[in-house]
Amino acid sequence: MIRTCGLGKIYSQGVHPVAALTGVTLHIPPGQFVAVMGPSGSGKSTLMNLLGCLDTPTSGTYMLDGVDVTRLGDVELAAVRNRKIGFVFQAFNLLPRMSAVRNVELPMLYAGVPPRERRERALKALEMVGLADRVHHRPSQLSGGQVQRVAIARAMVNNPVILLADEPTGNLDTRSGREVMAIFQELNRKGTTVVLVTHERDIALHASRILHFIDGRLVGDEKNGNPVQAAGGTGTGPHPDCRGEVAVP
Ligand code: ADP
Ligand code: MG
Repeated sequence: MIRTCGLGKIYSQGVHPVAALTGVTLHIPPGQFVAVMGPSGSGKSTLMNLLGCLDTPTSGTYMLDGVDVTRLGDVELAAVRNRKIGFVFQAFNLLPRMSAVRNVELPMLYAGVPPRERRERALKALEMVGLADRVHHRPSQLSGGQVQRVAIARAMVNNPVILLADEPTGNLDTRSGREVMAIFQELNRKGTTVVLVTHERDIALHASRILHFIDGRLVGDEKNGNPVQAAGGTGTGPHPDCRGEVAVP
């Protein structure tokens, strides 16, 4: 599903360039539920933005669902984002003046789905996250946990192959956080690949695999609580085609 080789990102806007991510080689097979952990500033959001095609790497390659997305232009990338990726953010990022159902319809609008089908699929997605009775509420009329569930419905409505979530429970109370995690687990059980950033160990334990980042580097990989050796048939070693750091032109 996801294969990165020597993925790196250097931000060079400021006076001093920042190496936010360095040499990340990673394989995430379809159907896996992965948590990403690490201290603040360790590159977790940078990784998610690269995996979500919201940003482009300064080194390395990224294959998503068999496509080398590092070679795609902006228009093609936007299409990949819309069709293959669902993104859930800590800050929800819903449009405040639109009802829940209209927020969920938006990605289908961009994908060119006809109005009636948009409405049907949006209602179904809201039902899936337990909000069938809140579809005409605006975000300000919903609790934090409900707003995040609308955001999950929006992320899932185009049937993405992968769901990326950057600290989705970061703004939620414990109970709402648990509800949101239950939805992620259910989606994963039905086959969606999930990658989720969290700094809470309790939340990370919902995943079957935990990746640890420090200073922009992947420093640990545990499956079901056991450390995984970086090389040797675990699915985490470099792909035969991966020759380490490959400069992106
Ligand atoms: P995390 O999500 O783990 O807290 P980030 O990926 O947001 O970490 O940030 C990693 C490093 O990159 C930090 O040092 C941060 O200050 C820097 N950084 C993140 N985004 C930018 C940006 N747009 N421009 C410059 N530096 C950035
Ligand atoms: Mg972050």
